[in-house]
Amino acid sequence: MSILLSGEFDAGEREAWWQALADALPGERLIVDRAEAAQAADIDIAIVANPPPGSLQGLPGLRLVQSLWAGVDRLLGDATVPPGLPIARMVDPAMNQAMAETALWAVLVLQRDFLAYARQQGAGQWQPLPQRRAADWPVLVLGLGEMGRTTALRLAANGYPVSGWSRRPQTLPGVCCFSGEAALDAALGEAAVVVNLLPLTAQTRGFFGAGRLARLRPGTHLVNLARGAHLVEAEVLAALESGQLGELVSDVFSTEPLPAGHPFWTHPRVTVLPHVAAQTDVRSAASVAAANVRRLRAGEPLQHRVDRERGY
Ligand code: NAP
Repeated sequence: MSILLSGEFDAGEREAWWQALADALPGERLIVDRAEAAQAADIDIAIVANPPPGSLQGLPGLRLVQSLWAGVDRLLGDATVPPGLPIARMVDPAMNQAMAETALWAVLVLQRDFLAYARQQGAGQWQPLPQRRAADWPVLVLGLGEMGRTTALRLAANGYPVSGWSRRPQTLPGVCCFSGEAALDAALGEAAVVVNLLPLTAQTRGFFGAGRLARLRPGTHLVNLARGAHLVEAEVLAALESGQLGELVSDVFSTEPLPAGHPFWTHPRVTVLPHVAAQTDVRSAASVAAANVRRLRAGEPLQHRVDRERGY
């Protein structure tokens, strides 16, 4: 049997993944082109990174799609992936830590006005601003999954009052956890910063439109580290213009790379990151993927299976 490595890689990335996976899976036949298999039915596992829609079609022997990405919204949007086929996503503690670092950086620079000081430097302006305490800077983390939990705990450990919202009730030490729409409305009105770590699903697409933005205290900051389509960009821009939204720090966009000329590039209160909040770590992710391959071969339950009904 063969394992197909498929996705949007440049040549260097493909080589790095191939090598790391080959090292982690000695004895497995790893191919990067389906023509390398004697017949399509020989391919029983696809290890993928955002594969182009349709690219897993015509593989009748496929028993597992293992994503190298944590977010699988694009894979789930591909109607050609057979409905019963197990999809596993990447869950890697190294990525969770990277995400928590990015969130901590964003919350900290907003709390201490370091983004404002960077703008002041650009204008040659020397102007100290009042210093805020972390304890007076409530942070709301949306989504308490792999990334959200690590992030909420890291923020709480740094002295921020942290609340966290998830679909099902959860408990996390030092974090005020809640679920449900009514409680969300109240929490949106109390946060100084909202950190978005929701998955992109039918329920969360366009989550930050005018209605939800109106529930924030004027001047609340938004840190979007999840998916660009969580934002209704025109309505976020309007909220920035009106002052309803203080600053937007965003790592993800509806169209990536963010197109030249997009208003986010030049807006004075928008910080653009090029989808780097938590990059997949090739070494650790290859061993996570390899562990699932071994589980499949041994007939053991797969880890990190995506619930296709739920959408994440
Ligand atoms: P995850 O483990 O699937 O966790 C999702 C969390 O969101 C869970 O707590 C879930 O609630 C909650 N949730 C889902 N739908 C909800 C709803 N309708 N209402 C309330 N809560 C809801 O996801 P993850 O691995 O932490 O990833 C989080 C996000 O980060 C994803 O959008 C992913 O694509 C993105 N990401 C970005 C980068 C980057 O570099 N920018 C890297 C990796 C991932 P339950 O706990 O009740 O299930």
